[in-house]
Amino acid sequence: MSSPLKLFRLQQIDTQIDQANSRLREIEKAINENPLLDQASYNFQEAEKEYKAQQTALQNAEDNVRAQRTKIEQIESTLYSGKITNPKELQDLQNETSALKRYLQVLEDRQLEAMIENDETREKYELASSHFQAISKKVYEENQVLLNEKAGIQKDMERLTIEKQSLLSSIDPDLIALYQQLRQQKRGIAVAKITEKTCSACGSILTPATIQSSHSSNQIIHCPSCGRVLYGG
Ligand SMILES: [Zn+2]
Repeated sequence: MSSPLKLFRLQQIDTQIDQANSRLREIEKAINENPLLDQASYNFQEAEKEYKAQQTALQNAEDNVRAQRTKIEQIESTLYSGKITNPKELQDLQNETSALKRYLQVLEDRQLEAMIENDETREKYELASSHFQAISKKVYEENQVLLNEKAGIQKDMERLTIEKQSLLSSIDPDLIALYQQLRQQKRGIAVAKITEKTCSACGSILTPATIQSSHSSNQIIHCPSCGRVLYGG
């Protein structure tokens, strides 16, 4: 294998490695950043919080009604026990019972409102929950596809790395240094193939002499326009 061909092959491997790394970053980002899932999760948590608060409110409303009924029962049992005979005292107790019953009505209305609100928040909570579950399932399936792709890319990378190592060991260190310097300067592309008498990297037309040299020798020919190493093919 001539030196230009070795460098060209090295370039092909590095380009594949660059593309694989870039795709791996995209996959990582797609898996870790998912605004739809984040939003669904947030909505679900908020609905859950609201539903729990509403349940507590309903519980309190029910407790208040129960406590009020107990109070009324206790006074009425005293009232009808026959133990109290003083008319004034009996009247006071009757008045107190009436007042407690009026307030019981208010408490029962509140309980009814709490029940209605409880139904509404439960509906919202169930909706948010099923939405979140559906999105989670979809994201999980999408992630499986991405993880499979990632595993495939990582396998390719292992193969490319081995191939690159063996290629590097067969190239003159000075040429490797030149190649690496050009890779840095020329946005990753150090070696350009000659296609239809032009440099495939920058598109400039090459003289017949340049093309001839690139074909006939083991020496390194640079594109006069962009400075990359030319590979005649
Ligand atoms: Zn060029």
